[in-house]
Amino acid sequence: MKVLRKIIEIDETLCDGCGQCVPACEEGAIQIIDGKARVVAEKYCDGLGACLGECPQGAISIVERVAEDFDPEAVEAYLETLDQHPQPVRQTLACGCPSTHLQTFEPKTSCQAANQPQSQTAGHSALGHWPIQIKLIPPHAPFLQQADLLVLADCAAVAYAALHQELLKGRVVMMGCPKFDDVPEYVEKFTEIFRKNDINSVTAVTMEVPCCSGLPMMVKNGMAAAGKKLPVTMLVIGTNGTLMKKEVL
Ligand code: SF4
Ligand code: SF4
Repeated sequence: MKVLRKIIEIDETLCDGCGQCVPACEEGAIQIIDGKARVVAEKYCDGLGACLGECPQGAISIVERVAEDFDPEAVEAYLETLDQHPQPVRQTLACGCPSTHLQTFEPKTSCQAANQPQSQTAGHSALGHWPIQIKLIPPHAPFLQQADLLVLADCAAVAYAALHQELLKGRVVMMGCPKFDDVPEYVEKFTEIFRKNDINSVTAVTMEVPCCSGLPMMVKNGMAAAGKKLPVTMLVIGTNGTLMKKEVL
């Protein structure tokens, strides 16, 4: 039955197909089809807009128009079919660039690690996931659950020679620059990360320059907004690449 009601509208010109809105919709009303988010059936969308805040492109809005009425029973039946045939969530950009494609590539068992060819262990990267930029990591990324976070200033990654051996191994790295990036956006991102995941520990690494000190504050503010309280171990790297200071905030 068609009625006048609220329903979401997706602006295809803004949508880049990142897929962040898909898990936000508990009704399963949004799927990525041909590189764009689409409402699979009007009757699955309740029009409450839980997906709105998840869209980094501002592509989703709520409109009032004549549409098929929301049907909770149809949603229930549809979700059961989804459980049986889970839909892949497309994490790459519409252009095919894998910059947002979530990946975990640490060996899963100690045996797999021990059996890695020598050629792959010499100078081996300790990175265990992708992406690594704060901006590109969605709060629902599977590698964030039970993670030991390494929140790293961009410059520290280049300056500190022992980064891979001493800091990166076993940690989930999130890189950014508090001088050039959007700090309020990052505080919101960390708030969502702390809300949605049980984070084990946080290590923040900054450069000695004053503008970099905003990095651990972003983390602390996000944590406080999420109502979580974890100590943040802060390391300060000198501009010559030496470890200058270590303290717990
Ligand atoms: S979150 Fe926004 S940009 Fe990403 S797929 Fe959904 S509508 Fe498109
Ligand atoms: S704040 Fe300055 S030192 Fe820190 S990552 Fe940005 S540019 Fe580098």
